[in-house]
Amino acid sequence: MQAETLTAMDQALTRALIEGVAHRIIDHAAELTALDQAIGDGDHGVNMKRGFEAVLADLDTHAGKPLPEALKSVGMALVMKVGGASGPLYGTLFMTLGKTLPAEPGRDDVASSLAAAIDAVKARGKSDVGQKTMLDVLAPVQAALAAGRDPAAAAIEAAEATVPMKALRGRASFLGDRSIGHMDPGARSSALMVATITDVIGRRA
Ligand SMILES: [Mg+2]
Repeated sequence: MQAETLTAMDQALTRALIEGVAHRIIDHAAELTALDQAIGDGDHGVNMKRGFEAVLADLDTHAGKPLPEALKSVGMALVMKVGGASGPLYGTLFMTLGKTLPAEPGRDDVASSLAAAIDAVKARGKSDVGQKTMLDVLAPVQAALAAGRDPAAAAIEAAEATVPMKALRGRASFLGDRSIGHMDPGARSSALMVATITDVIGRRA
């Protein structure tokens, strides 16, 4: 009886996390597009919206799986639907989280799984922290989790901190110094995801 209740709660949480992240990204598509118009090709909002609309269209399938499997299937949907550079990078992030998280993760599990996912994103994007990318949010979030600090606050602060940075990877790097003064769109979408996940878990606790 208790096991059934727990399972139902975990599935409700998995569903709330996927739905929350998808809706937050879709709601901010115009903002992500505007950021990408400033330093990229202006497709980040549209691409991410298309990917997360596809995720919502298959919500019952994704959310009916245990959390690690759900993360893998969301990651695969993002690879197939987002396109551009963001699809493979977010796909790698979600799929690696799915491969490394236990079914009922604690904070330490999330910190170590995110560290593995960051390494996978670095390898996939041939990129590193300090190049004005999503990694400049994910790495500080991982550090915050490992240190017991608020990951959402770290994410928002870290996205802001990409504004004065010069882009060294991706299309924005073609702009050189002109990439300075704009928030990185991938840093912003990553921060939105982290803030949403923190909200959803906080509401449940
Ligand atoms: Mg773009």
